[in-house]
Amino acid sequence: MSVLTASEQSPAAVDLGPAAALSCRECGERFPLGPVFACASCFGPLEVAYDLPSGDPEGLRRAIEAGPKNIWRYAPLLPVPADVADKPNINPGFTPLVRADRLAAELGITGELYVKDDSGNPTHSFKDRVVAQAVEAARAFGFTTLSCSSTGNLAGAVGAAAARAGLRSCTFIPHDLEQGKVVMAAIYGGDVVAIEGTYDDVNRFCSELIGDPLGEGWGFVNVNLRPYYAEGSKTLAFEICEQLGWRLPDQLVIPVASGSQLTKIDKGLRELIALGLVEDRPYRIFGAQAEGCAPVSRAFKEGHEVVRPVRPDTIAKSLAIGNPADGPYVLDIARRTGGAVEDVTDEEIVAAIHLLARTEGIFTETAGGVTLGVARKLIGAGALDPSLTTVVVNTGDGLKTLDAVAKTAGPTATIRPHLDSFREAGLA
Ligand SMILES: *Cc1c(COP(=O)(O)O)cnc(C)c1O
Ligand SMILES: [Zn+2]
Repeated sequence: MSVLTASEQSPAAVDLGPAAALSCRECGERFPLGPVFACASCFGPLEVAYDLPSGDPEGLRRAIEAGPKNIWRYAPLLPVPADVADKPNINPGFTPLVRADRLAAELGITGELYVKDDSGNPTHSFKDRVVAQAVEAARAFGFTTLSCSSTGNLAGAVGAAAARAGLRSCTFIPHDLEQGKVVMAAIYGGDVVAIEGTYDDVNRFCSELIGDPLGEGWGFVNVNLRPYYAEGSKTLAFEICEQLGWRLPDQLVIPVASGSQLTKIDKGLRELIALGLVEDRPYRIFGAQAEGCAPVSRAFKEGHEVVRPVRPDTIAKSLAIGNPADGPYVLDIARRTGGAVEDVTDEEIVAAIHLLARTEGIFTETAGGVTLGVARKLIGAGALDPSLTTVVVNTGDGLKTLDAVAKTAGPTATIRPHLDSFREAGLA
């Protein structure tokens, strides 16, 4: 499978803005920018290394604030060309950071509590952020088909972004996803292939496809374009800090599927500190999983450094990755920052979905129920400090996972169209 490593890449003149090279997370070796994701020397994952603008944080802050109201305001810190905002793309981001005082009161939080609400992105999940980056990388490397292995939301984001950018798309999903996710994946006109197996089977299939002539010329956003794709999650960190008035939160609670998002939010926070855009002070990162797919949470609690794969069984299908690629890095970050990784049951997920909707008017999908449910559990356990500034990241929209709450949310009463009937219902 040598096609998967960086060794065969010839240096090409690609314009991905401040991105200078790919570097190995394990051994630090650098490679030219290309559609590769594994180190040729040690097979470690590659990430984007930058020549970042330094020396004038005030100027950079002003330039960002004058930029478009989407993720491209951070283009100087992303692997995208400088004129990215002028190209056809889905332009996600700059979603609301909601001050959640009523939720805070219910949870016993006395400090500031915020929900970073990513449900309003173009295809209603945080995945639009990462796919928008991958589209630019696909363009730079000349791919004409955009693909992915998906737990649901990613396929929708790829379908929409490919449609906007004029690329073909062919996405792969497990066969047992929620209807909302399947329709969302297919509606943009690309091909959607349901695979009889779990997400981990789908992912393995895609890795084989990349190494085969069948997949030649295909950009898999979360496989051979993964280093670029992953950088999109940094924009969540950038936005949260900018929306707090260029201030780091004290605590963040973030859902974990493959662990990419959590890992890159941490990278984004560290970049802001290094650039002098925020004050350098400690922050703590907490990871959230569903009990039915909690390989990282289990490893955290057992003090392990490796993550043992599991077979997922949870209503939080968008987080149902049994063998998370970035699991070990999530463990590192939780331990380094003084955070934790915790999990909640399906019942706690449903209760948290209701809690967020009832207190803040935000309808989240099951992944958001996981995140808020874990936040609640961590407060109960004393792991989250209720007096500090806390951000809970809501990554998806409840309309995509209606089945999870169909039994617990319905009409309060069904009446005849007469006042008497309404009076009898006792709701006036
Ligand atoms: C994909 C996804 C995540 C997290 O994904 P990672 O693989 O950990 O980056 C979180 N929430 C939702 C709704 C998702 O679709
Ligand atoms: Zn290496």
